[in-house]
Amino acid sequence: MDTFESFLRTAPGEDLFAKCGRLCAALGTGAGAAARGLALRAAGPVGPRTLLAAPGEKPRPFLMFGSNSYLNLGTHPAVVEGARRALERYGYGAGAVSLYAGATDLVRELEARIADFCGTEDAIVFAGGYATNVGVLSALCGPGDEIVNDSANHASIFDGTRLSGADAKVFLHGRADRLGRLLARPPAGGGGRLVATDGVFSMNGDLAPLGRIAPLVRAAGARLLVDDAHGIGVAGPTGRGTAEACGVRDLVDLHVGMLSKAPAGLGGFCAARREVVAHLRLYARTYFFSTAMPPPVAGGLVEAFRLLAADAAGRRELLRNVAALRARLAAAGFELGPGGAGIVPVYVRDEARLAALHADLLAAGLYCNLVSYPACRRKECRLRLCAMKSHSPADVEEAAAILAALGRRHGVVP
Ligand code: PMP
Repeated sequence: MDTFESFLRTAPGEDLFAKCGRLCAALGTGAGAAARGLALRAAGPVGPRTLLAAPGEKPRPFLMFGSNSYLNLGTHPAVVEGARRALERYGYGAGAVSLYAGATDLVRELEARIADFCGTEDAIVFAGGYATNVGVLSALCGPGDEIVNDSANHASIFDGTRLSGADAKVFLHGRADRLGRLLARPPAGGGGRLVATDGVFSMNGDLAPLGRIAPLVRAAGARLLVDDAHGIGVAGPTGRGTAEACGVRDLVDLHVGMLSKAPAGLGGFCAARREVVAHLRLYARTYFFSTAMPPPVAGGLVEAFRLLAADAAGRRELLRNVAALRARLAAAGFELGPGGAGIVPVYVRDEARLAALHADLLAAGLYCNLVSYPACRRKECRLRLCAMKSHSPADVEEAAAILAALGRRHGVVP
């Protein structure tokens, strides 16, 4: 059977594009079943019922449990109004990179709000989330330095690590003891050391054990980057994220977050000491050489952070829905990943069974994410459900009932 790796490389003597043709031929057959859910398009705003369309088909409403817009801020009236005002005042696009006057004063306001939210001196906003990690890591680290990654970190952290030219080390996911062993020896290249971890892990739903990791990093004289893409606005007593949940906000040196998940816009940020942010503005190539955030996005995000800072964006409702969803799925017999934020992983552990189950869930009108290699190990393949603030108790009940019935049919639960 063809796998993801089958189409990764050009075979000896083959034309560069030959693998693309082989991939399309495979997707056109039964082997492409797993990929069909990837081709759905949204035909309306993200909400508990979202209009989705398969290629060539009419849109139909799906129960939406596959969005990272955890707090539904993308349709919040204040956020939409902020984006509309910005559109009318500044127009649609930035037209230039930030340092060539592409950044509007809205972006500056957003940076100040983010710094305040994270409790740091300053913050820098990137127009892309993926580009944030790539830019930050490659600006601050270089040959001779060392970057130590959790094995389950997001691809953008690994790609930034590679681009930086620093020595790359990896510790087993979530294992502070393994990290401790790596930190016991000085970096081989004699330079500085950065430990990087997701806050909430996007495919597992668990929180990094920052309560143990952060003091270790500090004691070793290294620096700590936390990418809290899925924790901002969700985790912690006031929604400040994983570091707040673990009581170590002051021990994080680089607070990275994505503006595309709970804040519901696009882009990313790094909040840190003033001099570090100043360095990033000149040396993060994905900032320096890349066009600034479009004004309507910045305008919406300013309003989103106003709500997040006041903890008035609906975190409690979201967490209520997560708890209800987890309870119902656990009662149905599913093996769930750890909790702590808006992500509920449901393990299937068999790729063929997962693909068949996912296809039936789509047919039944429930949309959730299929997670398989390379996003996780094959034997850990799973569904990923994301709750949202705007789900009603009936939505949660209906989703769990659909999953339970089809889980039984596919032999995932007894
Ligand atoms: N970091 C993490 C932990 C993520 O989950 C994501 C989203 N896939 C990113 C970075 C990249 O963010 P974006 O999708 O906004 O580019």
